[in-house]
Amino acid sequence: MKQLEIPLLTARQIEVRVAQIGKKGDGLSLLLYKDARTDMEVLDAIFGPMGWQRHHSRDNANCTISVWDDEKGQWVDKEDVGTESNTEAQKGLASDSFKRAGVNWGIGRELYTAPYIWIKNGQNCTIQNDNGRFKCYDKFEVLEIGYNEHREITRLVIANAKTKNVVYQYGTGARQASKAVESKPKETPDQPAKPAEKPISGGSTMADVGTLATEEQKEYIRKNASDEEYMDIMQEYGAELENLPYNDALFRIKEIDRNNSDQMPKCTRCGKIVTGWALPDGTTMTASEIIGKSKISYGAVYCGPCCVALKKEARKREAKKNEAS
Ligand SMILES: [Zn+2]
Repeated sequence: MKQLEIPLLTARQIEVRVAQIGKKGDGLSLLLYKDARTDMEVLDAIFGPMGWQRHHSRDNANCTISVWDDEKGQWVDKEDVGTESNTEAQKGLASDSFKRAGVNWGIGRELYTAPYIWIKNGQNCTIQNDNGRFKCYDKFEVLEIGYNEHREITRLVIANAKTKNVVYQYGTGARQASKAVESKPKETPDQPAKPAEKPISGGSTMADVGTLATEEQKEYIRKNASDEEYMDIMQEYGAELENLPYNDALFRIKEIDRNNSDQMPKCTRCGKIVTGWALPDGTTMTASEIIGKSKISYGAVYCGPCCVALKKEARKREAKKNEAS
């Protein structure tokens, strides 16, 4: 079976939830995870909607994701078992075993390289004492994620979705440059280890707080924001975005990405929303780049996998023609 590159999860595709609240209520740890929708999105994008299937056994405790191998003409299976965790009881075994089987195909495996994330109570989150039981109702979201060439997380920025404060930063550099950081002990998202090292977090100690947006961020906004979004940002921060704070830029960029992905046109061939696509050589193309290129090459909108398939078909036809002549 030919080696297909599973794209690394984007900030939009990563969910955050509270893993554990400290015994004294002084802080909490966070966990990165993926939603089953993300697995479907990635499987559709890589193998095509008709190129994969799932089935469950043992009352949904097991899930097998099968992918069609064109060369061998057969389905290739990968199976895993779900666990009914307290925090996700409502989501159920089926979705859990599906997500785990997805990891076996490589979807979101990079989340296992996440650092231990500890957030202090107070400025960064609000922990309430409910008759001796600590609770936190805050929601968190990933604003920025970066990886090295080994598909390990080297950059992570998390915000409190309620207060809009950046509450956790890991690694250095903005979205363009994510220099590899020294390798940290890997932890599985389901079993967070004890707080070993001090994470780079905590409101006032963060290097980027109060600094202005980088040139790369501004460039990204100029290129990808809709007219309406851009006008809105300009009105608030000036024509050259000269007063746009770094942290606010992160939020704006995430918002732009989200709006863009919602409005992405669908592939003419497979009907799926066109998403970003990792080429076999490791470079990635954004959805807009793919749409632009496919419009030029084929006169219609095609997703990454369909573009590749069309190219292959064209090459086959060409070869046949040459054979005949
Ligand atoms: Zn397609």
